[in-house]
Amino acid sequence: MSLPDLPFNPAHCLINGKWQAPLDGQTLALIDPSDGSELTQIARGQSRDINTAIEAAQNALNGEWGNKTALERGRILTRIGQLVLEHVDLLAELEARDVGKPLTQARADAIALARYMEFYGSAADKIHGETIPYLDGYTVYTLREPHGVTGHIVPWNYPMQIIGRSVGAALAMGNAAVLKPAEEACLTALMFAEIACTAGLPDGALNVVPGLGAEAGAALSSHKDVQHISFTGSVATGALVQQAAGTNVVPVTLELGGKSPQLVFEDANLDDALPFLVNAGIQNAGQTCSASSRILVQESRYAEVVAAMSERYTALTVGPAMDDLNLGPLISARQKEIVTGFLAWGQDLQIAATGQIAEDAPKQGAYVAPHLLLCSDANHPLAQKEIFGPVQIVIPFKDEEEAVAIANGTDFGLVASVWTENGACQMRLAKALKSGQVFINNYGAGGGVELPFGGVGKSGHGREKGFEALYGFSTLKTVAAKHG
Ligand code: NAD
Repeated sequence: MSLPDLPFNPAHCLINGKWQAPLDGQTLALIDPSDGSELTQIARGQSRDINTAIEAAQNALNGEWGNKTALERGRILTRIGQLVLEHVDLLAELEARDVGKPLTQARADAIALARYMEFYGSAADKIHGETIPYLDGYTVYTLREPHGVTGHIVPWNYPMQIIGRSVGAALAMGNAAVLKPAEEACLTALMFAEIACTAGLPDGALNVVPGLGAEAGAALSSHKDVQHISFTGSVATGALVQQAAGTNVVPVTLELGGKSPQLVFEDANLDDALPFLVNAGIQNAGQTCSASSRILVQESRYAEVVAAMSERYTALTVGPAMDDLNLGPLISARQKEIVTGFLAWGQDLQIAATGQIAEDAPKQGAYVAPHLLLCSDANHPLAQKEIFGPVQIVIPFKDEEEAVAIANGTDFGLVASVWTENGACQMRLAKALKSGQVFINNYGAGGGVELPFGGVGKSGHGREKGFEALYGFSTLKTVAAKHG
């Protein structure tokens, strides 16, 4: 199936408001994970393209973009949001074909992208400094200023949502952006850039250079003229990006995934909990940094929860993204190999239930049936490592103390949720859980434009989303005026 007509050449980069071929003319094949066919060719940007993009971003800051007021920036972002909504069908199809995400989920991501633009568009002129009481004869105040040129390295699992939260907040604060989308999925990044230009974003305020991580990504994270890096992806690559940024003494925001638990206590309302227990694990075929891959259940309800989740699992079907089933394929044959490798490693675990792959799903697609596994050892490798596939592990616990110990017993800390009607237990756990977000009687895998988001431990550091992101994408200047 060919791609819909696009208003740009997908083998080009967007630099200084113009679509242009990468300087050395190289391209990469973009693969449709639903059937393994080639969707199109994309640019294989290199350091020379990144250099040009950074120069364009700096020029935008020195010129038209840098001269915009906060109100004007906000209006442009809001207009981008409106245009995103007008292009939801196209964006959803591109994301579905490129990522392998079922169409309904891709559509939700396009709507979330619009929502980020609306949120940051209306927040742009609402962030301000403070006056500080100081010595007699002084007036002291603070100014919130943009960092300058910001680098955005985005993975393949939620391109639209991650671009929305990081590029949206950066532009709202008056930074210019250079975006390096993932080589596995970058069509919506390109379409978003086209929409931004149409909405009146000045040339150079946003530049997009697709390419390989070790080439374009490494060139961006190590460039001396980039003043802030936002990275979402694997722990190993995040560490490399932090090292590169450290050489230039530049701040980084790292969002590196997790092993997020949901804790089900014996008084939990299972009817409320069940859809969240399963959906938070299988959304986007489990390729979600905030996927809930561990379900911790108090012993007295363990059998009941396993039975209820198993029933849902057996009804799950996996197939091509455009068929819009419960799950699509994984992003690539390589990711399928990684996930099936984990399943082989976990052969000693009991399989409570699996879903099925649709009979007519193309053989070349990267399909893996969702697996619900039972595990009494919270230190088992499958209960510790981020699998990034449709695999959830159910672990029993005796009491609150043991639940907290298991929940906190991995290297990660991104999202956690607690299912109990006991208010005191809710409050104790909200404090005790080592996690960037704690949900009580709900779970938000990736959702919540307004909610600050980010991790502790190996889940990363820094916060995106919500108003908090605007602090991260700005720097504070203190002005102390002595006037007697
Ligand atoms: P990755 O971390 O290597 O890639 C993420 C982004 O970083 C991509 O844009 C990539 O091009 C870029 N990149 C890669 N190497 C780079 C480098 N040296 N310098 C700068 N940028 C670089 O992730 P991956 O290889 O696509 O996936 C591997 C694993 O990472 C997955 O199995 C999963 O566990 C994890 N992952 C996590 C998330 C998340 O949202 N937390 C997203 C994608 C992947």
